[in-house]
Amino acid sequence: MPELPEVEISRRSFAPTLEGARLLEIQLGKPLRWPLGIAPAQLGGAVIGLAQRRGKYIWLPLGEHGVLLLHLGMSGALSLDDGVAPLGRHQHLGLRTDRGRLLLTDPRRFGAVVWSKSLDDDPARKLLAGLGAEPFDPLLTASALRKAWQGRRSSIKQALLAGDVVVGAGNIYACEALFIAGIRPTTPAGRVSLARCERLLAAVRDVLARALELGGSTLRDFSDAHGVAGAYQQQAGVYGREGQACPRCGATIRRIVQAQRSTYHCPRCQR
Ligand SMILES: [Zn+2]
Repeated sequence: MPELPEVEISRRSFAPTLEGARLLEIQLGKPLRWPLGIAPAQLGGAVIGLAQRRGKYIWLPLGEHGVLLLHLGMSGALSLDDGVAPLGRHQHLGLRTDRGRLLLTDPRRFGAVVWSKSLDDDPARKLLAGLGAEPFDPLLTASALRKAWQGRRSSIKQALLAGDVVVGAGNIYACEALFIAGIRPTTPAGRVSLARCERLLAAVRDVLARALELGGSTLRDFSDAHGVAGAYQQQAGVYGREGQACPRCGATIRRIVQAQRSTYHCPRCQR
């Protein structure tokens, strides 16, 4: 599943090309998760601004024509082409512009392309409302995390995955951040001390920054949205390493299941 780093790398890969481009045509394939919400012809001629990201949503400002929100769902990937060929079997959106075409390829079709009058209008407002802070927001502090999680009995792993306090720590990155911070994943979120919230926030930023770096260097040409997570996994400390020795202390890495997701952790380093 594309996580925040994959989405951000995707955004960076096309945003400069399409900034200032004129939208000529919206091509739709099979239905995605939600309907577009406007007749595609009404957006013809719109000038696309610099694509932005919020959580795992990418949004394209279209000036007075509103905004277009994109979500990659489970299997979506964005790419640019010259826009000449008709949409392929798994291509369900084509934004044809005077600077090339942005394509959404999404075999499983959990992705979405949704139009809104503005970010403050539904459906954009509703889709973005529940999102926590951006992990690299300089205004996000450990004490804000501590305060938001106070009294919460669900595990810290689930609190990270929920994304309502801080976005971006999907399954792999949540496991790795908890390992780096030395926090047992089953610890109730409300019991994570301020000092540990500090370590955790630094660890979340560290794993996401490394994933972005991987996607930006070794995988510059990746077309598969799983590219970064895959490359990150190869250098992961605990993720996917059940039964192997912890790189830090040598203890055996364990796998447990939390809310139907695998959690990998070191029972000795993470207490
Ligand atoms: Zn260990």
